[in-house]
Amino acid sequence: MSTPTLAVLKQVYGYDAFRGQQAAAIATAMAGRDSVVLMPTGGGKSLCYQIPALVAQRLVIVISPLIALMHDQVMALRELGVAAACLNSSLSGAEQAAVRSQLAAGSLRVLYVAPERILQAKTLAELVRAQPILIAVDEAHCVSQWGHDFRQDYLELGQLRSHFPGVPRMALTATADARTRVDIAARLALDDPACFVDGFDRPNIRYTVRARGQARHQLTQFLGTQTGAAGIVYCMSRRKVDETAAWLAGEGYAALPYHAGLDARTRARHQERFLREDAVIMVATIAFGMGIDKPDVRFVAHLDLPKSVEAYYQETGRAGRDGAPADAWMIYGLQDVVRLRQMVDESAADEEHKRIERHKLDALLAWCETSECRRRPLLAYFGETPALVCGNCDNCLEPPKTWDASEAAQKLLSCIYRTGQRFGAAHVIDVLRGIGSDKTRQHGHETLSTFGIGAQDSADHWRSVLRQLMVRGAVFADVERFGALRLAQDARPILRGEEAVMLREDIVEARPPRKRRNDVVADADVALWERLRACRKRLADAQGVPPYVIFHDRTLLEMAVLRPVSALDMLQVSGVGQTKFERYGEAFLAVFARTHD
Ligand code: ADP
Ligand code: ZN
Repeated sequence: MSTPTLAVLKQVYGYDAFRGQQAAAIATAMAGRDSVVLMPTGGGKSLCYQIPALVAQRLVIVISPLIALMHDQVMALRELGVAAACLNSSLSGAEQAAVRSQLAAGSLRVLYVAPERILQAKTLAELVRAQPILIAVDEAHCVSQWGHDFRQDYLELGQLRSHFPGVPRMALTATADARTRVDIAARLALDDPACFVDGFDRPNIRYTVRARGQARHQLTQFLGTQTGAAGIVYCMSRRKVDETAAWLAGEGYAALPYHAGLDARTRARHQERFLREDAVIMVATIAFGMGIDKPDVRFVAHLDLPKSVEAYYQETGRAGRDGAPADAWMIYGLQDVVRLRQMVDESAADEEHKRIERHKLDALLAWCETSECRRRPLLAYFGETPALVCGNCDNCLEPPKTWDASEAAQKLLSCIYRTGQRFGAAHVIDVLRGIGSDKTRQHGHETLSTFGIGAQDSADHWRSVLRQLMVRGAVFADVERFGALRLAQDARPILRGEEAVMLREDIVEARPPRKRRNDVVADADVALWERLRACRKRLADAQGVPPYVIFHDRTLLEMAVLRPVSALDMLQVSGVGQTKFERYGEAFLAVFARTHD
């Protein structure tokens, strides 16, 4: 890589080396060629288009779909001392005029523009006159109708090719879906684009999946390992979001609800607190997250299953963008399997679509039940095949026990059969366990040969067996019969004893608390860490920006370990560039000066 590029990386951003494909993507753009850049969330996509502007001292236009995201980026760039601005509907007339005059004067380096805006005649003319050296299309998967975030505005962006002849375009996305990738190049009318793909692994995220027991108890146990950390708790429904947030708040957590049913002001206020305060827990539906660029989200917890492996990857990908350790934690159980399958069956989509949805859901359920390293199948879903197990998922850290459930499976399947394949899980398990009720008496089920054959095991045990048999395709819940359990194709060989069934033992209790924060700070001391955070918060509040805009957790952690006492030391810390040093260096050095006396 040429020296000016590396010098900019060090001087402006305070980083020593490029990551993955960054250097190649930058060189390609500077050579004037179109490209597609695929990197996971947190991979460092923004540097790929920002650095050409800084090296060439010219304008780069960035098309970005979300106003909130633009503001974040502009704020972060200004903190780095870079002339950045945005053009979107949220600006006042005066603000827009200011941006326009900067544009005309040629003093802007990075300009974020909303997709619907760039093709408006007046704006377009001004942008053409400003002679950008690169146009970056962020969140480029929005052009694809296959993707989950399709936006009509993005379809028009192919026209940029004729409006800006000779100006290279760079399409960036974190979406892995192969069909979407092909769509991007075609719809944006890219010319023979170079393609840069960085691996989708997020090694700093620890994946953990637990069988649902007492959900709230499990959640508080997990949160006990996350003291002082910001995180997201995802729930399926608005009602569950409200109830969970209220309950957590009652337990003393700084928890806030977020879903599409709240009015816009409340949502904005909650989001703002999540960004600005240090340890807010956002309890949310999936309406929250897209466009949340907060790099120091330390955990994402799922109280309900997402709808596919890809959705899970995207949602958990919001944790640990700064590269510091983060947790993706999920509980799931029988009712998720039943409910999600039912939702697919009952949806209004056509058969072809339902088939795809079913397939996606099955892949996710199989992933939940796996006893292997979780990272392998997760990455396999994106076409990657890591050679080694990861050592940073629940299955690697505490290998699950498996047991021969052939006989148990036969008992359960027979019981479903003997009761006429007309009942749901609760009743079938009552019969298995020999628990009498009005219903068992009414249907004469107490006289069945299967009544009480599973009496020695708990209801939870049987629910676990049933769930795993459903995921294997031996049992299904029939929507047309109100969710009655029925035997499927794969039940036969099991009932005939032709197939052994190995199931995993559920670990219901949360793992013993892992004081992650303290792990990380291990070498430094916790009091020092807290002083650094307090200093950052003070500076952030004074500027009216979120703390991570001042410095990321990773930068603070490195300070805590290196304990800089001079300007030279401080500039060695990753994430401390020239401008930030000038603005904040003294304040942080003062924290260490106090520590030494
Ligand atoms: P993305 O847009 O791909 O999600 P970002 O561009 O926001 O990712 O980068 C994620 C984080 O990684 C940012 O804090 C960024 O400053 C940091 N980062 C990017 N490139 C490097 C690098 N070469 N060295 C160290 N940190 C980097
Ligand atoms: Zn693993």
